[in-house]
Amino acid sequence: MTGNSLDQHMQRYAQRTNGMRASAIRALFAVANRPEVVSLAGGMPYLKSLPLESLAAEAGALVAEEGLVALQYGSGQGIPQLREQICQVMALEGISAHPDDVMVTVGSQMALDLTTRIFCDPGDVILAEAPSYVGALGTFRAYQADVVHVAMDDDGLIPEALFAAIDACAVAGRRVKLLYTIPNFHNPAGVTLSDERRPIIAEICREAGIAVLEDNPYGLLGFDDRLRRALRADDPDNVIYLGSFSKTFAPGLRVGWVLAPHAVREKLVLANEAATLNPPVFNQMLISRYLAKFDWLGQIKAYRNTYAERRDAMLGALQTHMPEGTTWTDPDGGFYVWVTLPEGFDAAAMLPRAVTARVAYVPGTAFYADGLGSRQLRLSYCFPTSERIVEGVRRLAGVLDNELDVMRTFGTSVSRPAVGPASPSPDTA
Ligand code: PMP
Repeated sequence: MTGNSLDQHMQRYAQRTNGMRASAIRALFAVANRPEVVSLAGGMPYLKSLPLESLAAEAGALVAEEGLVALQYGSGQGIPQLREQICQVMALEGISAHPDDVMVTVGSQMALDLTTRIFCDPGDVILAEAPSYVGALGTFRAYQADVVHVAMDDDGLIPEALFAAIDACAVAGRRVKLLYTIPNFHNPAGVTLSDERRPIIAEICREAGIAVLEDNPYGLLGFDDRLRRALRADDPDNVIYLGSFSKTFAPGLRVGWVLAPHAVREKLVLANEAATLNPPVFNQMLISRYLAKFDWLGQIKAYRNTYAERRDAMLGALQTHMPEGTTWTDPDGGFYVWVTLPEGFDAAAMLPRAVTARVAYVPGTAFYADGLGSRQLRLSYCFPTSERIVEGVRRLAGVLDNELDVMRTFGTSVSRPAVGPASPSPDTA
């Protein structure tokens, strides 16, 4: 493409594309994916524990036995049998739902997109935890919604902070549409909303006329065998619930879902049809067979055992190697540890030097809409082996030691490259 025609295209772009920027992080991750780098960056499930041969046989049987349906267009809402099975999956977390109110989507990422699309006009406010999931922030930005962050502590979202944020928006005359929350094994913070706070958060939102968008891809991945009750379980009218097979089965199939009050679900189906016609029938039927014929709960247990062991390896290594003044969260499940570095560090500025030292992470700024998070970073323990995790943390500690030396010598952190908020990508997701 010539420079001229590129210019012309850029002038034609819709305003909503202004927030869609590739960040410097993206370029770095191309290097971070080299085998010699220990990547503690991506949130990729450890698929090696899947029964790949039996799944291959099942996929073959699906084509042979039901190919004319599986390879055809399908319903915009998703196949009925899978929607029934999804209701059984959600029942594990106390949700009683009708399959009519479930819509299958291309990953829960698509459900995030469609929910934002039907609720948010430019300038509307979405409340979200501080920090929040980078992929959701990218979607909210794409619809020109403004994110107002709400503080968390080790027990998740703080009700008083939620109150204060809602009040501040009211005083400023701003229209708040949604609270976006990840109650279980938060991405990136690694914390879980306490049982006591769940009804309080739901009530605050109900009273304020704000819908809750409950994003729960990690809910079944708790290490203590205890299932947390979904917010949706006790508030079916005000909570829109998002689920996914990406973390409990396989993200490559791109199958997630949304459970919404009836009227909202109808609007979502129209939006889904406009965006994709229908979610992939083959993938839905494969998952349906998987849930019917395989020990899927046993598979989740295997995932949990692997991740629990790796979490232990990461926490142990952080304890051994991190410089004084560094703190981190202690996740009870999921994929992530959230690290806060001592004063003076800049995790985004440091990333190129970390990658040179053959370790990668996601800088904290990616998880804030407002530029905060410079002293923070997300480490994931889902994919590398325990040995690699320990090695990665050791390398990271070496980088931090060098930074400390520089700060002692020059009295400041080394200059900061232009690292904006990350666009969602498989590396940061
Ligand atoms: N929500 C959260 C909190 C996530 O961590 C992710 C994936 N990293 C998603 C949604 C999207 O998941 P998927 O589209 O694969 O279902």
